Amino acid sequence: MGRTPRRFRGLERGATLPAVTLPPTESAESSDRPGRRVAVLTSGGDAAGMNMAIRAVVRTAITHDWQPYGVQEGYAGLIAPLEFGHIRPLEARDVGGILGLGGTVLGSARCPEFAQPEVRRRALANLAQLGIDALVVIGGNGSQAGAHALFQDGIAVVGIASTIDNDLEGTDITLGADTAANVACDAVDKLRVTSSSHRRASIVEVMGRDCGYLGLTVGLACGAEAIVIPEAEMSPAEVAERIEDAYRRGKKHATVIVSEGAALDGAALARILEAEHCTRIGFDLRVTVLGHVQRGGTPTIFDRLLGARLGHAAIERSEEHTSELQSPLN
Ligand code: ADP
Repeated sequence: MGRTPRRFRGLERGATLPAVTLPPTESAESSDRPGRRVAVLTSGGDAAGMNMAIRAVVRTAITHDWQPYGVQEGYAGLIAPLEFGHIRPLEARDVGGILGLGGTVLGSARCPEFAQPEVRRRALANLAQLGIDALVVIGGNGSQAGAHALFQDGIAVVGIASTIDNDLEGTDITLGADTAANVACDAVDKLRVTSSSHRRASIVEVMGRDCGYLGLTVGLACGAEAIVIPEAEMSPAEVAERIEDAYRRGKKHATVIVSEGAALDGAALARILEAEHCTRIGFDLRVTVLGHVQRGGTPTIFDRLLGARLGHAAIERSEEHTSELQSPLN
């Protein structure tokens, strides 16, 4: 007798994987959990691991019998009229299957007007109307400044430091920085292969507006000849000397890592090297700007675990201080 193959739901040939979508808009009254209501949003530049943090916030809240809400498109969603449906209750299944995705399923947006108190009042009114009295803000410097302003306006806020730049005071490592560094490191490794074939020097510009964390870590991990970051600038003459030195030692390639926030970006540095030092450096020069590729990585294990721990801790912290306001910057 032939065995009937086991069939798993959703894995049949041709089956499509479930899309990650938020549930349809529901009214605040549809929530029947007895505990508090807590909203989560992602803001500013996206970073890998944000989804894991969202998942942890939602599921930890549910285990506490709280009702989690997701806010779409950051502060822009928080101030939008409620009928637009940007603030919605979330259930455990709504955040299933997202832990390995980069970016943020809630979406992110810039909302410069959020710095104005009268604009933030719209956010407070929306939250009050939905009975939401706690907020988790996942984002970088600007987002946490917005969270702090909201806290001062009178709502409990817990911030999760998340940015690829790793430039937030008070935290050793921000959510998303590890993945971005790995993506950049992988790109530089690949560039080295082709540079070696053609005896080239690569100038690679990595992200980091005011902070050289990505540049420094990637430069060290990839054995760069020179690392130019805002915290430790290096003159074009010194960079040329390092490249020349590599050439004289018989290396087939040279790598220079430049942070986007350095005084000279990658293209400007290359122009000066070519104009003033081209006879000494030996190699052909090429500039590569990694740009937004660095944001697009699949979250590393480190960022997944960090996102899970921070999301869980955000709810625990909200609960510990049910009656007092929490500043993300404290
Ligand atoms: P990141 O959070 O990645 O640093 P931004 O600097 O663009 O990204 O900030 C994200 C959002 O945070 C801004 O679009 C704005 O809505 C809000 N924000 C930034 N600075 C402030 C501020 N001083 N007060 C209130 N909201 C702010």
